[in-house]
Amino acid sequence: MNLTQIVESESEYLFSNYKKYPLFVQKGRKCLLYDYEGQRYVDFVSGIAVNALGYNHPRINNVIRKQLKKLLHISNLFYHPYQALLAKKLLEISGMEKAFFCNSGTEAIEASFKLARGYAYKNKLGEDKNQILTLDNAFHGRTYGALSATANETYREPFAPLVPGFHFVKQNDIQDLQTKFNDKICAIVLEPIQGEGGIHPCTEEFLQVARKLCDQHQALLIFDEIQSGLGRTGRYFYFEKYGIRPDILTLAKPLGLGLPLGSVLTSATISDTFGPGYHGTTFGGGPLACRLGFEFIKILQEDNFVQQIKEKGVFFTQKLIMLKEKYPFVVDVRGEGLMLALELTFPGREIVNQCLEAGYVINVTTDTVLRFLPPYIITKKEIGGLVKTLDKIFSKVSITT
Ligand code: PLP
Repeated sequence: MNLTQIVESESEYLFSNYKKYPLFVQKGRKCLLYDYEGQRYVDFVSGIAVNALGYNHPRINNVIRKQLKKLLHISNLFYHPYQALLAKKLLEISGMEKAFFCNSGTEAIEASFKLARGYAYKNKLGEDKNQILTLDNAFHGRTYGALSATANETYREPFAPLVPGFHFVKQNDIQDLQTKFNDKICAIVLEPIQGEGGIHPCTEEFLQVARKLCDQHQALLIFDEIQSGLGRTGRYFYFEKYGIRPDILTLAKPLGLGLPLGSVLTSATISDTFGPGYHGTTFGGGPLACRLGFEFIKILQEDNFVQQIKEKGVFFTQKLIMLKEKYPFVVDVRGEGLMLALELTFPGREIVNQCLEAGYVINVTTDTVLRFLPPYIITKKEIGGLVKTLDKIFSKVSITT
């Protein structure tokens, strides 16, 4: 099949819920993707922050081969070694005490909401203590709980009624946060640096106040680091930047390096909320996905890997700032490590298409924000190549600002 045929058959047989770019990917190697005509592209999206080690990583391939010969799935009725091995690694880098595994980001979020409400219930923290605060520009996933924590009316309205008990706070607006916090709040969930919302970091002060209010009101602080966690921002977790620790941490995206795997990390006390039967999954925490996750964290811990992400991020940011200084329609450069964004005054989809034609895969979020989430193994040369391409494309943009 060629691209035209696949587009036609997808439109005939599949739901039309995705707006795809015209790229028919055959294979990948390191940070490069190859289409069916042999054309290569440098990848600055990583399957939306998943392929952190790029494509065809020899160590990962080796682990897959070994595990395939042993066991693919066993369910959570029985034991295999890799859940505990991966959990130990995750707890080591996060300072948390217990881990739960599921299949995706949105499932990790669902588990965290159940945990927060169940914790208040189990510990008799108050009859109506079941309300959850979330941020107005947040994205936590697509299931009912996660959608209920999404403020955007366009996404909510068609699917009403949603799960009750969610309230929205303006990001970095301390007064709004203080006004909306009370004893009925059992948790606040936030991305310390928002991803789908356009790469918007929470301020240190806002996070500090959230931590303090949670402590005062016996509420739980949930950090959604599904996109920002596991090295992406040049730290294992973005929360390390200010040393403000959550009670519950949700992870997914790169954890299974392309296999569906999510996780919830928390304290031993909070984890006790879920006794046998209270929460679970058929597929979550399977041997192959967990073994991949275990290998991934081992790689992150070797050779200053996370520090290198930080350094590449500084290099990349400097280059993006140069574009901002040169072009008035570039209004902002945001983010850290290899989670970066460049905001335009106009919709960015056409820029994404032109980058694709020039051999670079990038992405746009919230219409005007070009987002860069390359594999951690991206080289400075590849970053330089993308910025040169953007420079060339921008130089032909005629727009009155
Ligand atoms: N939370 C955040 C911060 C995300 O970025 C995403 C996905 O983009 C999710 C949750 C949902 O994850 P998933 O698509 O794996 O369900």
